Amino acid sequence: MIEEYLKTSIICTIGPSSDSAETLGAMIAAGMNVARLNFSHGTKEYHTEVINRIRQISTSMELPVAILQDLQGPRLRIGEFKSGAVVNLKSGNQFVITTKPIPGSADMVSTDYAELPSLVNIGDLLLLNDGALELQVESITDTEVFARINVGGDLPARKGINIPNLSIDMGGITSKDLEDLEFGLSQQVDYVAVSFVQNQEDIVDVRNAISDLSPERSHTPIIAKLERPGAIRNLDSIIDASDGIMVARGDLGVEIGVEKVPSVQKNIIEVANSRGKFVVIATQMLESMIRSPRPTRAEASDVANAIFDGADAVMLSAETAAGAYPIESVKTVSDIVREAEIQEHEWGHFVENMSLSDSKLRALALSRAARELAETLNASAVAVFSRSGSTATLVSKTRPPVPIVAFTTENETYNRMALLRGVVPFVVPRAMNLEEITRSAEQVLLKSSNIKEGDKIVIIAGLPIEDMRSANIVLVYTLGENVKI
Ligand code: PEP
Repeated sequence: MIEEYLKTSIICTIGPSSDSAETLGAMIAAGMNVARLNFSHGTKEYHTEVINRIRQISTSMELPVAILQDLQGPRLRIGEFKSGAVVNLKSGNQFVITTKPIPGSADMVSTDYAELPSLVNIGDLLLLNDGALELQVESITDTEVFARINVGGDLPARKGINIPNLSIDMGGITSKDLEDLEFGLSQQVDYVAVSFVQNQEDIVDVRNAISDLSPERSHTPIIAKLERPGAIRNLDSIIDASDGIMVARGDLGVEIGVEKVPSVQKNIIEVANSRGKFVVIATQMLESMIRSPRPTRAEASDVANAIFDGADAVMLSAETAAGAYPIESVKTVSDIVREAEIQEHEWGHFVENMSLSDSKLRALALSRAARELAETLNASAVAVFSRSGSTATLVSKTRPPVPIVAFTTENETYNRMALLRGVVPFVVPRAMNLEEITRSAEQVLLKSSNIKEGDKIVIIAGLPIEDMRSANIVLVYTLGENVKI
């Protein structure tokens, strides 16, 4: 039933722990709305297989799942290890990072970033694996960086290298990103996330690249991953250029210091909400569940607080991609979200103070009117007819107190809207007039919700219906009324 769905969207990263049909089905049943494919890992063949599998399962379960392609971005990474996926680095030992393509060990690993030796200086700190390990540069040759291990630990293959306070601009979209983007668009991914964004131009470049590579998919929404100090400085303009924002706390914590993450996270959520853009909180939400079937209390608080602060979506990373308990992680995050949503009226800080560009003002005003009508008339749902999902996005951002049931004729919009907070998407046949769309909304609601004849709903649609215009009317309809509209 529509009323049972969580409002907050749950994004799960897919990897070796979760790519089987059985696990994906169980994760969708447990509340996964969006599957994130991390293009720092995996071949095109692998991603094709996973995308096809998700689409098939989502269709057979009649539950929408959006596919998010996360581009690697200008990321420094270590290579593979010959002995397996992980090595242990001992504090006090020396470790060498080389630009030569060698199989790695606990003494030496490769990087495909040929400029690394010229980028670093003696004395620089190198942080590996989201800052879990710390090395200090001791000497440098043309191809090698020799470093002392200050803080050791387990180091999985292909993990990131962060150099705090690196002043060099690592520059936007890479050639690998462009190649992956072309592939993603050919697979009709629903969202594209851009890593290590530094300024508005990085987003504009990706938008232009999408239009060049695949003009028919130029509307693919772009999510800016905020993980660099520069991105925080340019927050407003990056948010304006993007369709949504991800607080990518892994790299962000390494780059600005973990102690600054909580307040920066709150600020980003507030700015994104004030600009009508959806906001995702990511990384280490249930980190201990990579190895344990139960979360820590701190993790439960973190997930709930993200919701109280006004986030639209929460994301699981290694918990579902590589952890031992992918299904339990989704169930756990769902349970925490459910409880937080019950308590939201008490603790939630959502302040709606939106300032939007002129082109969005009509949809915003209609969305606010719909919320006001739903509240005042005690309506049971807001039904929005949305071709591209953009009206549904704004209705979602105005947070009416009832389910937002979003109807679309486009299969692609149906999946994409799975990311929107509080939105339950449905595909309906193309209608020729207001009466037809009202009837199809009525049929869906009577079958899929607790809403019954005599209950009111608020409808947002665009007239003339046959032209599939963007929203221009709001009306109140009583189910079973059967009047001519
Ligand atoms: C992060 O750094 O928090 C993040 C989401 O990015 P990635 O997982 O791609 O490193």
